Amino acid sequence: MSPERIKELSRQYFEHVRTLRRHLHSHPELSFQEHETAAFVAEELRNMGLQPHTGIAGTGVTAIIEGQAGSAVIALRADMDALPIQEENEVEYRSQHDGVMHACGHDVHTSSLLGAARILQETKNNWRGSIRLIFQPGEEKLPGGASTMIAEGVLKNPSVDGIFGQHAFTPYKVGTVAFCPGRMMASTDELYLTVRGKGGHAAYPHLLKDPVPVAARIIDALHQITGRLISPLEPAVVSIGKVEARGATNVIPDEVHMEGTVRAMNEDIRNTILEAVERITRQTAAASGMEVVVDIRRGYPSLVNDVEMTGRAIARAENYLGKEQVFLAEPRMGAEDFAFYSQEIPACFYRLGTGNPEKGITSFIHTPTFDIDEDALMTGMGLMAWNAIEELQFRS
Ligand SMILES: [Zn+2]
Ligand SMILES: [Zn+2]
Repeated sequence: MSPERIKELSRQYFEHVRTLRRHLHSHPELSFQEHETAAFVAEELRNMGLQPHTGIAGTGVTAIIEGQAGSAVIALRADMDALPIQEENEVEYRSQHDGVMHACGHDVHTSSLLGAARILQETKNNWRGSIRLIFQPGEEKLPGGASTMIAEGVLKNPSVDGIFGQHAFTPYKVGTVAFCPGRMMASTDELYLTVRGKGGHAAYPHLLKDPVPVAARIIDALHQITGRLISPLEPAVVSIGKVEARGATNVIPDEVHMEGTVRAMNEDIRNTILEAVERITRQTAAASGMEVVVDIRRGYPSLVNDVEMTGRAIARAENYLGKEQVFLAEPRMGAEDFAFYSQEIPACFYRLGTGNPEKGITSFIHTPTFDIDEDALMTGMGLMAWNAIEELQFRS
């Protein structure tokens, strides 16, 4: 198989895939409610002669494409959910669902994977092994569709050897991609902390239990975790973004409520921070005789790309797109539920350039004016297919 053949098929399927993307963009659905989207995906897979499994973890869809004899299995993943954002783009394919928008490009990931599936199905006599397509629900919302799909066994029977995923990224120009070997995105956990004292007239604090200075000490101490308990070489963030003390100039409140986020790039560091948050909050409150409620909600783990598999993907991308179109992406403290797969099996998640300043396509994801240069679909489907085929040949 030559990359030229894949490029030729990408060009051939481009208009069709663009139609799919525009349909998905016009009909966005929120996390874990992707019913029409899942039906649309399943129908398209059936049209290619595949036999999709539907209703996995709610609205998830999977299918297997079998090439020639070979035991290796590679998974390709797309997410299908949209965001609660009102679209402001005046395009013919704008969202027809009020207050819901594909503002994170999951329509791009889904249509690109459907395009890749067509290419793989068309060429299956020319490669060895199997490819599992994973269309998952709910990337944007806890507990994360990836975790529920894994719990349903999408990485087993047959057991998957490696997985690829991609994400639209405006700062990179259409036609380019960017990889990040090793750690790429952070874990994310939510903190809900409440200090309970006893409120009353602010002129008589000695008769009360003032939770405000205790909360202040907790906030201060939590911000020192990253600077003092964690190695300076380890990326980590503790941020408190919400503090609520419903007193007044002359009223001490009964309680102070705080909310925040913890981010890390390593599961041990993540656990160390979460334990420290709990210990510091409890003991700081106890030192002042206050009660405290510590509610830590674990979110997505950190996304770590397999270094060797990503190295091979970079070499393939350079070969497929040309060296000048392939970049190294820097790690970011944002989160992505593809991380769940990366904690289970060798994984490679990369950024797909979708921006084009000359055409005014510069809006970042999660904004009401987010859009892509649709030529990115050509790279989105072709490179996905090419990577999967080459990874299978490498492994068999
Ligand atoms: Zn998003
Ligand atoms: Zn996303």
